Amino acid sequence: MRQVVLATHNPHKVTEFQAIVAATRPDLQVVAYDGPEPVEDGITFAENALIKARAAAAHTGLPALADDSGICVDVLGGSPGVFSAYWAGHAKDAAANLALLLDQLSDVGDGLRTAQFVSTIALVVSGDASREEVVEGVWPGRLATAPAGAGGFGYDPIFIPDAQPDGAARTVAEFSAAEKNALSHRARAFEALTPLLERL
Ligand code: IMP
Repeated sequence: MRQVVLATHNPHKVTEFQAIVAATRPDLQVVAYDGPEPVEDGITFAENALIKARAAAAHTGLPALADDSGICVDVLGGSPGVFSAYWAGHAKDAAANLALLLDQLSDVGDGLRTAQFVSTIALVVSGDASREEVVEGVWPGRLATAPAGAGGFGYDPIFIPDAQPDGAARTVAEFSAAEKNALSHRARAFEALTPLLERL
């Protein structure tokens, strides 16, 4: 089976990727990268995804995928964006990040609470057939006024996608894992990546 290394230390992302890949490319085995973590000092999702994928490809010799992702709130000019993981500080505290974002939007009415989850995936292959590719997936929705649901991770409890599996207004934390993996920004980015993986 062809192996691809996934450059992330976030176990939620590994699980989501493995489920998405199993459904679409069962011949690929996604293994989690456990080598040294590079400094993510890019200012775009694409730069950070490439930094992570290059490090994993160089360290393992395997084709490497990395996802850099976050939540972009329109009324905040696209922030938190690349700063999503540490919006409330470098402790990377998901509950504190979410609480700060809700607090910042406390006076913002329903119609202006639009936001997108964005996932940018870089594919880096080193060696003779060296390649670098970047794709993006966007999941539009809006922010709730209070967290709801216990599934997923990060900002899932406050993100209500526009497209809902059953027409209700649920947060992603109220989706099943299968519902999230069928609709998410990560699934959309992976869909764009699929034709590029055919040459692996
Ligand atoms: P990264 O690991 O540096 O790409 O940081 C991504 C951050 O964006 C995570 O720590 C979360 O805060 C947020 N994020 C990305 N994808 C999701 C998702 O699917 N659900 C909820 N939050 C997410």
